[in-house]
Amino acid sequence: MGRHNYNPTHKRSARAARRPAFWCLASISPAALLVAALAPATRAQTQAPPCCTQGAPQTPQPPRTPPPPRSPGSAPRVCIDPGHGGADPGASGFGHNEKDIVLDVGLRLAQLLAADTADTAGGGAWEVLLTRADDTYVSLYQRVAAANAWPADTFVSLHTNAFNSSAATGIETYSYQEGTNSAALRDGIQAQMTAAWPLPDRGSKTANWYVLRETWMPATLSELGFITSPVDVAYLTSPEERQLAARAHLFALQAYHGFPVYLPDSGTRTYCTAKPNSLGCTPAMAFSGTPTLGGADDFQLSATALMARQNGMLFFGFAAAETPFAGGTLCIAPPLSRTAPRSTGGSPPPACDGTFTFEFSQALMEAEGLAPGATIFAQIWYRDPYHGDATGVGMTDAVAFTLAP
Ligand SMILES: [Zn+2]
Repeated sequence: MGRHNYNPTHKRSARAARRPAFWCLASISPAALLVAALAPATRAQTQAPPCCTQGAPQTPQPPRTPPPPRSPGSAPRVCIDPGHGGADPGASGFGHNEKDIVLDVGLRLAQLLAADTADTAGGGAWEVLLTRADDTYVSLYQRVAAANAWPADTFVSLHTNAFNSSAATGIETYSYQEGTNSAALRDGIQAQMTAAWPLPDRGSKTANWYVLRETWMPATLSELGFITSPVDVAYLTSPEERQLAARAHLFALQAYHGFPVYLPDSGTRTYCTAKPNSLGCTPAMAFSGTPTLGGADDFQLSATALMARQNGMLFFGFAAAETPFAGGTLCIAPPLSRTAPRSTGGSPPPACDGTFTFEFSQALMEAEGLAPGATIFAQIWYRDPYHGDATGVGMTDAVAFTLAP
């Protein structure tokens, strides 16, 4: 759905906006492609692609001239490099190919960076380049040349690990050397990935790999997990877990580039259908603030057009549902939590000017054992004594939101 046309125009410089999103690919001339295809190193890699073996340069590198200075405060440029592609499937295991997994994670990361750019409430603004956005073969030379020519400020390569024993499991992240900016970004990615996936922490490492060595900017290579491990492959193939992996890379990039760690565009939305009350009013949910465990502000849920001076309470849970409930629809699946009842206030009844405001506070979230990344579904219920049916309840529509760190 338009993923390949991902184009974060918000906050982009005019210079960048003139470029197609995949300038790096478009700029590679057919002659360069031909040279790359004929290079012995490329053929060997295509025929037997060991995971993440970054070989010698296939053609001489352009002169090492420093990239032009970037203006301070400009949006960082991130080059996302999903490994392998096209005729090079990368490693495989359990019927899955590395190239497909890392492309999906890379696209998710690009979308998160675009969402962070569009969402001015927190996080950062970014320019993003993907070395490939579909199942295309791109040589290592082309990947590095594109990042160097742009120039990118950071380069993040995505891979899955492989071993000849299914017992090998866990997360690794690489840089070229220790004690560098690359190593700092690498350590951040490793920490975020091991927080996102409960797999063994195999640690931050160094390797003399082409994309790490030949890039001019801080560069990392993530081995998300082992495609040859039945444990790891469950994470590598789950859309939800891939989203968490992409999010881990977003958080690491935010921290590295000096932005607050922030989950953009939390997806907060209302859904489901309110039950109109006996006075003909339709109560409605609203929200304000950012649902976060780490921020200073509480996330506020509020309902309006409630029956005045009745009691209500907030239900919340972890899945959506549309279940008949006391004459209305409960839009949350059990198990449910609920707040203590409180008065909706307002004019003397009958009136629809009652309100119910609830702060989804950090204290509540912690008391409930909620974790960043959890999506919560909430709805407000209140008494409607004038209602004709025996149940006498009114219900708002529902709201879904995802907790940021
Ligand atoms: Zn690989």
